[in-house]
Amino acid sequence: MTPPAATAPATSSAGAARRHGVVPYRYRGLRWSPEMGFEARCDSCAERGVTAYWPITLEFWNPVHGLRRCRACLAEADRLRHRAIRARNPREVRKERDRARYLANRDFFLLKQRERDARRRAERAA
Ligand SMILES: [Zn+2]
Repeated sequence: MTPPAATAPATSSAGAARRHGVVPYRYRGLRWSPEMGFEARCDSCAERGVTAYWPITLEFWNPVHGLRRCRACLAEADRLRHRAIRARNPREVRKERDRARYLANRDFFLLKQRERDARRRAERAA
């Protein structure tokens, strides 16, 4: 028999989670205002100290991502993620690597290019 895990156990109930000291995620981000109607809370905006409640419209929320982060916060997270990727792999390094790959496989690239050109010519003629 395996010993119990040292990390927080996987729990499915809030009571068990509380007994094990795990704070369950509880969504409490809905409110009603007479002028705007229902509004949802963006946790990321709240962390940054921005107004955290946004009207539940497609302008502020992307249904694919639910009601946990507003569109602006999702876009910012995406931007930071891509910036980190670019920082790990700067343009000069990328260009140098691509150039080396091209020179090593020049014949293959030229062959593919010729095939592609022929295909496009055929599509245009058709
Ligand atoms: Zn937000």
